[in-house]
Order: sequence, then C-alpha cells, then structure tokens
Amino acid sequence: MNQFNRFNLPLCLVVEEGLFEHVDETVASYLPQIKGQKTIIVTEQFLSDLYPGYLAEIQRDFKDSEIYLSEEGSFDQAMELAKHICIQNIKVVIGFGGGRVLDVAKYAAFVSKAVYICLPTTLSNDSLASPFSVLQTEGMNRKTLGCKIPTAILVDTDMIMKAPKGQTLSGIGDTISKHTALFDWQLAAKHEGKPVDDFAYAIARMAYDSVYHCDDKSLTSKTFIRILSRALVMGGLAMEIAGSSRPSSGAEHLFCHAIEEYYPQLKISHGMAVALGSVGACIFQGRDETQLIEVCKAYGIELNPAAYGITKEIFADAWMRAPETRKDRFSILSTTQLNREWLDMIYDRMAGVR
Ligand SMILES: [Zn+2]
Repeated sequence: MNQFNRFNLPLCLVVEEGLFEHVDETVASYLPQIKGQKTIIVTEQFLSDLYPGYLAEIQRDFKDSEIYLSEEGSFDQAMELAKHICIQNIKVVIGFGGGRVLDVAKYAAFVSKAVYICLPTTLSNDSLASPFSVLQTEGMNRKTLGCKIPTAILVDTDMIMKAPKGQTLSGIGDTISKHTALFDWQLAAKHEGKPVDDFAYAIARMAYDSVYHCDDKSLTSKTFIRILSRALVMGGLAMEIAGSSRPSSGAEHLFCHAIEEYYPQLKISHGMAVALGSVGACIFQGRDETQLIEVCKAYGIELNPAAYGITKEIFADAWMRAPETRKDRFSILSTTQLNREWLDMIYDRMAGVR
C-alpha cells in the first residue's frame, strides 16, 4: 500500500482441479506464517452433510482447527462467531460454502482481525471476493456492510462442477450485469462531479468481456469455470479499488433489491434477478439490449420473468419501487420517468425471448 492506494489485494488466487484435496500446501506456499495457527472452518449443516470428505480433509490439513456451522446469514451470527474467534485466539478463518456462509465468515474474520481464506463451493455471485458482506439485520432486512476482501481465494473446479447449475448461472448473471452497472457508475460520477476510477472500471469491464467473449460457454467446462471464477474475483477487486460497490451495482441491482425486499416469496437467485434487471436497465439507458439478451441465451439464462413467478404487476411494481431501495444511489432510474405501458412492453419483450 502506498500513500495513494488505500486498497488491499488477495495474496493468493488459485483456480485448480482437485484443489480442496491439498488446501494446506497451497495456502502454505503463499502464507507460510499461518502454518500451525488456530483455525476455524465456517460452513453450514447442509454442506457438512454433502461434503464430509472434503471437510475432514481440510480439518486434517489444519491440525489445530474446529468446524463452525453457520445456521443463518445474519449480523448476529457473524458477531457471535467473531466473539468466539477473539476469545479462543483463532488466527485463521476458512469459509467453505456459498454466499451466505462466506458473508458470515468474511465479516467475522474482519471484525476479529483474523486471516480469511475463501473456499467457495459455488460461483453464485461476486461477493466472494468483494470488500462487503450482506447480512440479515432485523427480520427480512439485509444490510451491506463494508469489510475486507479475502487474503486467499481458492477455487476447486471439481467442486464447482458439482454445484447446482442454477448457482453457476447466477454467477454469470451477476457478471453480465456489469454492462449496465458500469454505465450507471459513469452517469453517477458525472452527476456527482467525481471521476470514475479508471482502473476499477477496466477490471470490471474485463470481467464482463471475459464471460461475454468466452468461446466455451458450457457450464461444465473447466475452461469456462476458470474464466467465471476469475471474472467474479475481478468484480470483487473492482469494488475494492473503487472503494464502493458502484462498478458492480447499478439500476439492475436496485430492481433485484426491490424483488428481494418486497417479494421474498419468489424463487429467484440474486444473479438471475440482476440479469433480468440488466435488460430493463439497458433499455432505460437508451442502449441496444440485443447484446445482453444474446449472451443470456448463449448461457441458457431464462429471461422470461414468468418463469420465476414474476407477473407483469410484480415486474412493474419492482421497477417503480427500485429507486427507493437505495435512495442515495444515483442511476438511470434517477432521470427516467417509468410508466406502466413501457414496463409492460419490456416484460413482453423478455417473455418473447426464445
Ligand atoms: Zn450482484
């Protein structure tokens, strides 16, 4: 870190086949100082039942270690874990899981000043390498809290291939949504009279381009898993460098927040909701949405809102309420007069994608 840069970068990013069978060796080659340190492996019951072999292996590798089962992705849980880490003098936190588990582990490691190693079991969104944790606060309310990016990120391609297809699709959705997020970031910067961080912008753009231009769009291809892993990590790094979630979050994320907050009963992942949001945001931005629709089709992302239980009424209501979900966030919605007829047309356009 120098006097101009305030950001941290992970010391290690490894994407490899069979990596979870020798986590200790990989970590030790980058972080020899953590060898023999007290470690806690944060996961959840479901994953512990699904992958007992992997967890036993990691626990064997890190001799002085224990397993902690996170039951909910809440702020209280993260604080309870941080307290345990501090009191027990634990120096290393390993997050083994998807979004919710990783957010709890990341925040607890940040609060307790422990080294955080991220072992994602799915590639469902770019929070795995971001300097933020989204945690449940009161009831269904969730808050995005600033923290530190992981010290090490280890992706086992074999593990990702075992993950449900929907999780990987969600990661693709979160990556392609940068197309509209970056446009909104530029708009906001102009409106607020602040410059866009060129380096963060370029990294986020590269994340999008790598997924968009990938020749191998098969979800079970190792080449593709590698590209998606790096794209998600790049998304996280762009946020770290920018010092905000702006490179990854624009109007499409506001639509997603509205769906999550007002229609929690819907079964739609974060990445799918932002992918749907991106098509609308792209149209509001006055740009051609064809490129986005084509890339979604190429990966098999379903763009018909009805497939997720989103009716025309819900779709229109979510867009209308989207700006309220983050009042301080300037986006294309801040200068767009939405109306029901227009939103219905967009819905029909998306429903008609084959
Ligand atoms: Zn996202």
